[in-house]
Amino acid sequence: MTSTLAFTHEVAERFLRYVVIDTQSDPSSPTCPSTAKQKNLGRLLAAELKEMGLADAHLDEHGYVYATIPATSDKKVPVICFCSHMDTSPDCTGANVRPQIVKNYRGGDIALPGDPVQVIRVADYPELNNQIGNDIITTDGTTLLGADNKAGVAEIMDAAHFLLRNPQIKHGTIKILFTPDEEIGRGVDKVDLNKLGADFAYTMDGETAGTIEDETFSADGATITIEGVSTHPGFAKGKMEHAIKIAAGIIERLPKDACSPETTEGRQGFLHPIGISGALEQATLGFIVRDFAEAGLKDKEALLENIVKDVMKGFPRSTWRMEVKEQYRNMKVVIDRHPEIVNYAIEAIRRAGLQPVRSSIRGGTDGSRLSFMGLPCPNIFAGEHAFHSRLEWVSRQDMEKAVQTIVHLAMIWEERA
Ligand SMILES: [Zn+2]
Repeated sequence: MTSTLAFTHEVAERFLRYVVIDTQSDPSSPTCPSTAKQKNLGRLLAAELKEMGLADAHLDEHGYVYATIPATSDKKVPVICFCSHMDTSPDCTGANVRPQIVKNYRGGDIALPGDPVQVIRVADYPELNNQIGNDIITTDGTTLLGADNKAGVAEIMDAAHFLLRNPQIKHGTIKILFTPDEEIGRGVDKVDLNKLGADFAYTMDGETAGTIEDETFSADGATITIEGVSTHPGFAKGKMEHAIKIAAGIIERLPKDACSPETTEGRQGFLHPIGISGALEQATLGFIVRDFAEAGLKDKEALLENIVKDVMKGFPRSTWRMEVKEQYRNMKVVIDRHPEIVNYAIEAIRRAGLQPVRSSIRGGTDGSRLSFMGLPCPNIFAGEHAFHSRLEWVSRQDMEKAVQTIVHLAMIWEERA
């Protein structure tokens, strides 16, 4: 079955409206949302949803936006939620975003006008080869764009608008959820799943058009604390054991050509130092550990522990401890219990005129935590590319395909109910 729906889109216009609102999150802030400015976008979205006719649309005190699109079908259809995050990465500034549109892209590298160093090269982003004739939205090169994840936000908003304008389209109850602080790993900390009341969910936060991701990394954090032996440096011979030097020795022993972010891809995991602090007496090393399989995580943690033990042999009077904390788990085990979630999404992508591609995420999403909280939640493409950077881009046409995928997906859940 192919689409006979007469789609009209305002997704790019919505997107341009949202990206100029700075919603950068801040990992050092203890509040939720981590930055109050995220609520500026939340308020706008809640108001736009209300204006569309969604009576229950609201922004809550924690910075989450909830809304319900009422069912148009009498069938008992599972309640489906579409979810995107409103914040942008702390890695790259999101203030004063000035979007640029390359209309009817003819191929070739895209130079960004605000900074001559910033060029989106086809060699780095070969997906540009599939964008000929499309309208490509970039920044001026001085900020990130925020397509991660305002493309997803705009797509869900546009799909809601389309469904509300076309009540003849049959679908069950659809929930909309916009979250703060995904980029700092706190996107679902304060989500109220009872209030949301959804059976299954989809994040709209993937990259290339056509992709559906039902797998994420499993993730742990590891902290190593070293207690060295401090003495006056003038009288230290044979006594001092320097915690900073021990820490440096551990980093030095990490594998050089494997097991790191810069040497792995596809389904390979890694062990990655993310912080080091210390003085003579005590030093702390922070790591993140990533793998698609639990066993892979344990292997990497054992490798780290063995390196530490080995280095510590040279410092007999110093002590150490290693603490491993679970961060999130591969959502595939949860999603596989309900194969229809992914199968319907694949069918929806096909009906939107795309070739579905199933893949895995070398990272986590709100969906991985939602899945383990009881709301199975794979990730559908939003069209965002080069996220967390000044070279970030998205095309109007890919966003439109994502809107169509949402609409078809809502229809498929109703058809199969
Ligand atoms: Zn994202």
